[in-house]
Amino acid sequence: MKTDIGISNVTCVQTWMDDAQCVHYDPELWFSPIHTTRITLALAVCGECVVRAECLTYARTNDLRYGIFGGLTAQQRHQLTKHTYNPAKRETE
Ligand code: SF4
Repeated sequence: MKTDIGISNVTCVQTWMDDAQCVHYDPELWFSPIHTTRITLALAVCGECVVRAECLTYARTNDLRYGIFGGLTAQQRHQLTKHTYNPAKRETE
């Protein structure tokens, strides 16, 4: 089995995550189990993040049910999903 991929096969991909503000903080802030000042701090950091929209889309696309993404708690994302207009769902009702 060949394991050496060689440097010519390595591709450097820049993603929205490279610009995430949260990489400069303790990740635990985004996964506090109860609403505390830690969550408040995390939400403040998200509020200044330039990739907030991409982060929120990522969380919703991947159905992430824990933690803060895109400046919203898991509960807030759930509420957003619940109240977002879904024409496919409406046609079947
Ligand atoms: S919006 Fe997403 S990427 Fe930006 S700081 Fe918050 S959790 Fe991190």
